[in-house]
Amino acid sequence: MEENKACEGCESKSTCSGTCPSSEETIEQVLEKMAMDEQLRKIKHKIIVLSGKGGVGKSTVSANLAVSLALAGKKVGLLDVDIHGPSIPRLLHLENETVVSDGLKIIPSTVGENLKVMSIGFLLPDQEDAIIWRGPMKYSVIKQFISDVDWGELDYLVVDSPPGTGDEPLSVIQLLENPDGAVIVTTPQDLSTADVRRSINFCHKMNLAVLGVIENMSGFICPHCGERTDIFKSGGGEKMAKEMGVPFLGKIPIDPKIVEASDSGTPYIYHYAKTEAAKAFETVIQPLLDIDNDD
Ligand code: ADP
Repeated sequence: MEENKACEGCESKSTCSGTCPSSEETIEQVLEKMAMDEQLRKIKHKIIVLSGKGGVGKSTVSANLAVSLALAGKKVGLLDVDIHGPSIPRLLHLENETVVSDGLKIIPSTVGENLKVMSIGFLLPDQEDAIIWRGPMKYSVIKQFISDVDWGELDYLVVDSPPGTGDEPLSVIQLLENPDGAVIVTTPQDLSTADVRRSINFCHKMNLAVLGVIENMSGFICPHCGERTDIFKSGGGEKMAKEMGVPFLGKIPIDPKIVEASDSGTPYIYHYAKTEAAKAFETVIQPLLDIDNDD
């Protein structure tokens, strides 16, 4: 806990919860902090999904990870803070959702029994609108989406962050206080893995654990002849993870049905459970499930 001037000489200093008003904090700030602390206490595990650049399938992976964890019986929240390209509403067929409040909290959308979803996209009256916000505005919206949404008790909060190392991942890491770590999505080719090295270094600088790297779009198995073609090469993500000393979670192949499922908003992992890519997702989430099972 951070000490401030008000802590000096205070008898409760060693046992304090950290919500004592300091000379610099207003009552509103103290109440906000209490609300945030209360909210974070109810979320057991916080996972941030990052990528070095756009188009590598980060949102597709975030959505399918969240659905897989929910199908495994976990209570999951999926928060989409990809301000410049929120894809979660489309991926989960929630394009017509808006931000609704019961007067106390923002009510998240639900998918099935175990998954609650909130997206920056729900703030946009038109999915094609562009958001032009500076850093402090982004920070304040992300803060509200963590502290004011009725997430309830969660086993996992999965946060889909925009590509790169900008304001949004920075805000999420700071606001979640003690996230379990980051899952980093890349494609196998060299250009993409160079970007992901930056993401890993960013995590190191932020003291954020790297839970693992996922190599997406890793090879294509022809549905007609069964022959495998490594369209974007294969193994680049695995090699890079090894070199940088971070865990490798697995490879997800290219499957045209992922594009179909994404475009129609049907969770791929649920509707195509027997495919190679769905099995790959199952392998990839196992270490993430273990975090909670080992508690
Ligand atoms: P990002 O969030 O990294 O920008 P998206 O998740 O929006 O990327 O994915 C970009 C496109 O790639 C989407 O059309 C998605 O359906 C497709 N895609 C993602 N992963 C796969 C995959 N393994 N096989 C086939 N298409 C994929």
